[in-house]
Amino acid sequence: MSRTSITAALKQGKTLVSDGAWGTFLQKKGLKPGECPEEWNLTHPNEVLDIAKGYIAAGADMVETNSFGGTRFKLEHYGLADKTAEINEAAARLSRQAAGEDKWVIASMGPTGKMLMMGDVSEQELYDGFKEQAVALERGGADAACIETMSDLDEATIAIKAAKENTRLEIIATFTFNQTGQGEFRTMMGVSPTDAAQAAIAAGADIIGANCGNGLERMIEIVKELRAAAPSTPILIHANAGLPQNVNGVDVFPETPEQMSSLVKDVVNAGANIIGGCCGTTPEHIKAMKAMV
Ligand SMILES: [Zn+2]
Repeated sequence: MSRTSITAALKQGKTLVSDGAWGTFLQKKGLKPGECPEEWNLTHPNEVLDIAKGYIAAGADMVETNSFGGTRFKLEHYGLADKTAEINEAAARLSRQAAGEDKWVIASMGPTGKMLMMGDVSEQELYDGFKEQAVALERGGADAACIETMSDLDEATIAIKAAKENTRLEIIATFTFNQTGQGEFRTMMGVSPTDAAQAAIAAGADIIGANCGNGLERMIEIVKELRAAAPSTPILIHANAGLPQNVNGVDVFPETPEQMSSLVKDVVNAGANIIGGCCGTTPEHIKAMKAMV
């Protein structure tokens, strides 16, 4: 294998660039509302491959996988729970095909939609579900598990442990924070960046961070808080293209590649080590950010 681990590359002082949005990109390629995005790994592999290739061509050092909703808890809504392993393995294989041997594949693992505190699911069931997904993603060729858009600390730490204890994947854990009326940042479940960082690292995360919810400008404050809580852990940021504006009932993300890339320096100076995009970002945004890095 010609690549080191992501954390080893970061130790040499590099700033790395990740990829951009997947969901909005799939819609552009024809994914219909109500369709299962992850099923496209089996039914539309060329379209999925094309998205990954687009980000690699834009200069990304790592690319995600089309597996955000790939736990059996999400797939069962589409009657696809028995294809969980197959769908996730295909997701990783497609991104690996685009990444080649030189770039990293960071495999997306999103929330299950099940609430532990409401008794929807037991901790063991949640652990087994994340384990099943992580093992299949590794089998398909992933380098890392990117556990993302997390809000509940218990779900996040169970996902981290399930991936860490059952695979050799590097573990990235990112949370989605929103700004409160008091100007502080909290997840939907009320978790602060400080608490998220400490719990994720204690559970075994190699890289921590934030994704979605904010444009790069607000990510600067979040990175500062994460960095203060975790002085020596690499930080990854996947920011939206600005804050969404509702135009005729549709969320529009307003920031251009130029606007977004102009903030890269501040985010890196605040302590971020890997920078990429979330909702509303395109290969053009990634290309501009790469040039700035
Ligand atoms: Zn997003």
